[in-house]
Amino acid sequence: MFRPLDWLLGLFSLDVGIDLGTANTLVYIRDKGIVINEPSWVAINRRSRAPLAIGAEAREMVGRTPADIIAIRPLRDGVISEFEITEAMLKYFITKSHEQMIVPFPRPRVVVGIPSGVTEVEKRAVYDAAISAGAREAHLIEEPTAAAIGAGLPVNEPRGSMIVDIGGGTTEVAIFAMGGIVVSRSIRVAGDEMDEDIVQYARNKYNLLIGERMAERAKIGIGSAFPLPEERTMTLRGRNLINGLPQSVEISSIELREAMAPSVNIIVDTVRDALDETPPELVADLMEVGICLAGGGAQIRGLAERLEDVVKMRVWVAEDPMTCVARGAGRVLENIELWERSLAGLHRGSTHH
Ligand code: ADP
Ligand code: MG
Repeated sequence: MFRPLDWLLGLFSLDVGIDLGTANTLVYIRDKGIVINEPSWVAINRRSRAPLAIGAEAREMVGRTPADIIAIRPLRDGVISEFEITEAMLKYFITKSHEQMIVPFPRPRVVVGIPSGVTEVEKRAVYDAAISAGAREAHLIEEPTAAAIGAGLPVNEPRGSMIVDIGGGTTEVAIFAMGGIVVSRSIRVAGDEMDEDIVQYARNKYNLLIGERMAERAKIGIGSAFPLPEERTMTLRGRNLINGLPQSVEISSIELREAMAPSVNIIVDTVRDALDETPPELVADLMEVGICLAGGGAQIRGLAERLEDVVKMRVWVAEDPMTCVARGAGRVLENIELWERSLAGLHRGSTHH
């Protein structure tokens, strides 16, 4: 049905997709692409808990702040542990992306990707934050669904498709058919845990204390989940735990693979478990289309090969895997009726503005 008012509003409307990730928050605006990509960090005053800095600025403060300022990641474990702080963060990013527009007045329609498993109270908080940040309409969608839509999977079709979204704090596995999730798993093992594995490994094997950022650099630099065509080395820098002095250690990609194995194995087992629970008809579909990997962790070298080796089906990395959730959330706004079944409740437009 042609609705002239909707059509007219559509000409001026600003459609915003937001990925409220445990590690990074991304904002996607239709026709503009990704306009914000910042760490999900908030620096707060320890006593008053008032937010002092958000995003990249807050992350820069980590380890450099006076004692009364602490930097936190409100979505770290895939749940909104501090929703007032999450609210401040969401408001800040919506306002900031809105300010980037030449004509900032039409209030945006927003779809926010939220970790699966958040409570009704937390959903309400995200929804209210979006509305109070000036959204004309707000909808919530579970991250794996948004990731699958962003990756171009046919989630609305009868045939099955599967996404494995490996973020910082959580890995989400979901198998879709006919617009719904048929089987899902959400675990608190993802990229951050791999960094911690590396910190432990350096401590146990070399008595070397390294920071999380050093560990992450090693993971991104030479980390892997499957033997590499050419193994590599890099230098880890930290402090010797015995004498307290600065120390560098040359580490190989083979050692790093061993270091990351505990987390990688849990992710692999979770994918296998989810497949075990999938009805055979859908498994047959998956054998045709394969399994899609998204999120920052999808970029770990050899992860797709490792999974292929275990589950014996094709595994592929989505195009631009770190932006899938934001782009998927944005795409939902192109045709909200089409995706109605994929939304996570609490998605009425605001009427009190
Ligand atoms: P979230 O959705 O939880 O915010 P992201 O999808 O943004 O998380 O992914 C962040 C994680 O991806 C971090 O653990 C980061 O270290 C990891 N990551 C980013 N780039 C790479 C890479 N090239 N190789 C391996 N891991 C990566
Ligand atoms: Mg994510």
